[in-house]
Amino acid sequence: AKPHVVVIGGGYGGAAAARYVRLWSGGEVNVTLVEPNPGFISCPLSNLVLGGSRTIGDLTHGYDALASRHGIRIVRDSAAGIDTGKRTVALASGNRLAYDRLILSPGIEFLFGELPGMTADGPILHAWKAGPQTVALRAQLEAMPDGGVYALTVPPAPYRCPPGPYERACQVAHYFSRHKPRAKVLLLDANDDVVSKSALFKRIWKERYGGIVDYRPGFRTVEIDAAGRTAISELGEKVKADVLNVIPPHRAGAIASSAGLANVNGRWCEVDFLTFESARAPHVHVIGDAIQTAPLMPKSAHMANQHAKVCAAAVVDLLAGRAPNPAPVLTNTCYSFVSDRDVIHVASVHAYDAAKKTLLVVPGSGGLSKEPNALEGAYAENWAANIWADTLG
Ligand code: FAD
Repeated sequence: AKPHVVVIGGGYGGAAAARYVRLWSGGEVNVTLVEPNPGFISCPLSNLVLGGSRTIGDLTHGYDALASRHGIRIVRDSAAGIDTGKRTVALASGNRLAYDRLILSPGIEFLFGELPGMTADGPILHAWKAGPQTVALRAQLEAMPDGGVYALTVPPAPYRCPPGPYERACQVAHYFSRHKPRAKVLLLDANDDVVSKSALFKRIWKERYGGIVDYRPGFRTVEIDAAGRTAISELGEKVKADVLNVIPPHRAGAIASSAGLANVNGRWCEVDFLTFESARAPHVHVIGDAIQTAPLMPKSAHMANQHAKVCAAAVVDLLAGRAPNPAPVLTNTCYSFVSDRDVIHVASVHAYDAAKKTLLVVPGSGGLSKEPNALEGAYAENWAANIWADTLG
């Protein structure tokens, strides 16, 4: 029988890993992808739904090609447990899948317990997993009166998508500048400075959205008064908003911690960067936002896609009895839309360092935009179209 790889999670990391194991094994490895959602909804570009230039439908894609074109078995279910000794995955439906290699890309789990007053289903929204909350948050912004305040809380780094909250502030400010010119955006950041593209974002808020965006670093939100739409900081400061949007602290997707793989501060999964095999369980690989990242490596869709490819190549090699590539190189580009068409980017290249056993930024690689522009807007749209095709086939 052919070897069997089970992939948990059909997001950016998991769907790409499933596809590339099939492609690079020449169909010699059977792949099962476990994902509870009927479709793939992209977080990248989802801030544009809040800005009003995209709909959630523009960001929603099917899994059909992974099955019909690539022969991946798609199981619409949730992984409920992993027996790393017996090499089986228990599914919520009660079924069980046996694997030779398991790839886990479960994304993130919000730590609502660390933020009293904040709950999974609202009324205060996170919209940090694209879907119904994104649409509901847009509706709250539309219903907000001109002159009102939208406040967004940013958790301490590392969190999913370092530039994401700042892009969101730009999108909401862009919408307000057109439709509610007296409304304000308040960024309550637990970090002491803007975590990504700091100087660029600050310049954009000053030059384009002066008088709209107010940035407050060092505001560590510890409690939410949901009825009062108020964020409460560690120092007891209370900020009330008309629309309060809270990104709770988070960790690796729940299945990773319940399987004992989230060994770094109980939050993230330590992996071997040559193979993305878990430091805790042989034959189990973890990719995407769930891992303890290498230095200066963002939790991004682009990076999850790169993890997926290094991992898929290693899994195909290991199953064939070959040694994996000893010198992987990964790239990252994060685009941020600062209006409906102008974009900035940050890029980096990460190469394996055999002595330090980690991925390090290649000196002199990568870069940063000088200023927002529409050409980069076109690049960003093409980036999205390309990564969707690369992920979903
Ligand atoms: P996900 O893509 O979240 O996929 C996880 C999947 O696992 C989900 O489909 C989930 O249903 C499934 N799952 C979870 N648990 C189980 C289980 N027990 N069983 C089965 N399935 C399970 N990145 C960029 O590169 N560029 C951007 O412009 C960008 N913009 C962003 C904007 C926003 C607003 C946000 C929130 C994020 C953005 N990101 C961006 C970050 C990007 O979305 C994440 O880094 C990326 O989705 C991580 O991929 P992943 O596979 O780890 O997780």
